[in-house]
Amino acid sequence: MTEKADLTSFDVPAVLDRAAAGGRITPEEALVLYRDAPLHALGATADALRRRRYAGTEHIATYIIERNINYTNVCVTACKFCAFYAAPKDTKKGWSRDLDDILRRCAETVELGGTQIMFQGGHHPDYGVEYYEKHFSAIKKEFPQLVIHSLGASEVEHMARISKVSVEEAIQRINAAGLDSFAGAGAELLPARPRKAIAPLKESGERWLEIMETAHNLGVESTSTMLMGTGETNAERIEHLRMIRDVQDRTGGFRAFIPYTYQPENNHLKGRTQATIFEYIRMIAIARIFLDNVAHIQGSWLTTGKEAGQLTLHYGADDLGSVMLEENVVSSAGAKHRSNLREMIDMIRTADRVPAQRATTYEHLVVHDDPANDPVDDRVASHISSTAIEGGTAHPELKLLATN
Ligand code: SF4
Repeated sequence: MTEKADLTSFDVPAVLDRAAAGGRITPEEALVLYRDAPLHALGATADALRRRRYAGTEHIATYIIERNINYTNVCVTACKFCAFYAAPKDTKKGWSRDLDDILRRCAETVELGGTQIMFQGGHHPDYGVEYYEKHFSAIKKEFPQLVIHSLGASEVEHMARISKVSVEEAIQRINAAGLDSFAGAGAELLPARPRKAIAPLKESGERWLEIMETAHNLGVESTSTMLMGTGETNAERIEHLRMIRDVQDRTGGFRAFIPYTYQPENNHLKGRTQATIFEYIRMIAIARIFLDNVAHIQGSWLTTGKEAGQLTLHYGADDLGSVMLEENVVSSAGAKHRSNLREMIDMIRTADRVPAQRATTYEHLVVHDDPANDPVDDRVASHISSTAIEGGTAHPELKLLATN
């Protein structure tokens, strides 16, 4: 597929009507709609599809409370867009957390009502399957209630290579140790040209998908992601969606699709123009339309702002990600948007949706259908105010952020 898909050869309203009626659209049609369809028509179609998929609960938008645990920033992969990593030789910048530190962070997550942790870090040259087995089993032993939704195909490829085992064995072993599902990290851009330009040492997009397909076939589901705005073309964005849709047709293992935008600070990519909010909202809409086999589309407003996040709920998104108790990766690259739990609930409510806290598997845990009874949060807010927001000392590193 080229960038030159021709608007004149498509009847845009007819394609939108077919999509709104549940018909599948081709990648070529998706490219034309993404690039040229009137914004409101695109959004109306996406919103109609969301409403139909969630008939009966279409008034609800969800969020989750989780903690991102960055276990190390040491990484051999040196992605050009990354502001988080330290090369193994850089002993001044590099760090790793010990198990006690990680367990303390899990304890804080439980204390604040979090249900999920996202283990996220660099490709450390010494961390094979055994490292993850040890840490996941220790977390599950102390905190069986925490869901470990973490890592992705890139980490699996790396740990399997370090431990000299197959990716199947790596997945089975970390799953047995406590990993519940993969977060889909490392997808970045799946087509070869933009992927090589920003992450030349990562596995190919095809390999990323192959590993996720293997995980799905072994019963470990995942989410899927996309990094927008590092110089890829519109056709390459749509190709990324096509690659995900094809795997999803075979496995059904992607629970959600989460696009987010490149942040330009402190990394080695030069002269990139960030994706605009309009591009982002159009991506949310075309993802809802094109990925007819993926249930959840998440608006990741950490990198685009709260108003953009609210708009995504009217352009096909049904979820706004997480109130995240700690985040260091996209913040390192310049993401500045923050929110606490009350703000997350207000953000969803003022976007004309009823907020609901969800589980990792998207079941509603608490529906905040009466503002007078918002539980938010004497319990969580008091912890926030005594630690991060008012600069308390109990947990000096605790930051209440919201992200994907
Ligand atoms: S994005 Fe991940 S794999 Fe790439 S350099 Fe950063 S930490 Fe390493």
